[in-house]
Amino acid sequence: MIINVPENSDFSIHNIPFGIFSTKNRSKRAGVAIGEHILDLAEVHKLGVFNFEAEVLNRADLNDFIALGKSVTSEVRTNIQHWLQDDNSPLANKSELFVKQAEAQMHLPVCIGDYTDFYSSIEHATNVGKMFRDPENALLPNWKHIPVGYHGRASSIVVSGKAIHRPKGQTLPKNSSEPVFGPSQRLDFELEMGFVVGKNTNMGDTISTNQANDYIFGLVLFNDWSARDIQKWEYVPLGPFLAKNFASSISPWIVTLDALEPFKVAGPKQEPKVLPYLAYEGEKNYDINLEVAINDTKVCQSNFKYMYWNMAQQLAHHTVNGCNVHIGDMMASGTISGKNENSYGSMLELAWMGTKPVQLNDGTERKFINDGDTVTMTGYAEKDGKRVGFGEVSTKVLPAK
Ligand code: CA
Repeated sequence: MIINVPENSDFSIHNIPFGIFSTKNRSKRAGVAIGEHILDLAEVHKLGVFNFEAEVLNRADLNDFIALGKSVTSEVRTNIQHWLQDDNSPLANKSELFVKQAEAQMHLPVCIGDYTDFYSSIEHATNVGKMFRDPENALLPNWKHIPVGYHGRASSIVVSGKAIHRPKGQTLPKNSSEPVFGPSQRLDFELEMGFVVGKNTNMGDTISTNQANDYIFGLVLFNDWSARDIQKWEYVPLGPFLAKNFASSISPWIVTLDALEPFKVAGPKQEPKVLPYLAYEGEKNYDINLEVAINDTKVCQSNFKYMYWNMAQQLAHHTVNGCNVHIGDMMASGTISGKNENSYGSMLELAWMGTKPVQLNDGTERKFINDGDTVTMTGYAEKDGKRVGFGEVSTKVLPAK
């Protein structure tokens, strides 16, 4: 290796995720994470090792780089893997190509045109159904037939490290028939993963489950901030609106599907059988360990492999009516809960609507998220000594403005 990579680093030679960073003296550009460093792709381009224009690496987002297609971007990744391990490579002995992550600022990796949020964890949908509707019929009749989703808000997706304000809105106090206005009293996180669309379609086009991987560039950690009290009052009949659109946070490095290939696993059995356009072949789930911490207390341990509906099915469903998708579009999984109580991916479930407060290391307890709290999500896959991680999405909650 021509650069030191600490053991257990999320950003091992097997990963090589793409992101957008800036430094004190220079504006946004593309890079890949390796160990505790960033390999500056705009600088690497100057060595004449890439056969595409330098501009795509000097933009404020990766959209034009992704638009080069996987034949190019996958080759860039594998070339970098070879070069970093070859003492005689074009990158050897060139410290100016590397920036310490601690000295860089990360930015949103893509310009997100559209954002869709799914609801694809059966455990999460069941828990929410039990709490808000009928414990005996927690899942609505459509749930096992449709990867349920809604169109979210792209404008308020922010990168890890950017603080957010507690939202204000209308809520209906208990035992009251009149709503009140004020800061949400039930601010929550939702542990999700998001995938970034890597290829455009035209209106009328559909993407089959077999084709879906060609249209997925990679994944990030995704925190779908949610105001439960606002949600409860507004969500019937058209679903989430102001309870969700005030903020979502993502991790800055896009881990490619190529890097995640070794961690594919079979998904849960789908019964009843899905309609033919949602049927799929092969392993479409991914074994990715996920954790959530409030300040320094770990409160949730889950896994992306629990998802009932996989990304290929989500994309096939999203486009089956001819809806077009664009490079940079973000598709989030829905809250990722497992079967165990410590694997629930939201405070709503962990503290069971406030009835089982979560204990923190400092002796305080939480039913939801307080002002001043920092919520941090981490994720990594590991197999046969190979570790591929996402870093973190960490967000501090400020008081309402
Ligand atoms: Ca969500």
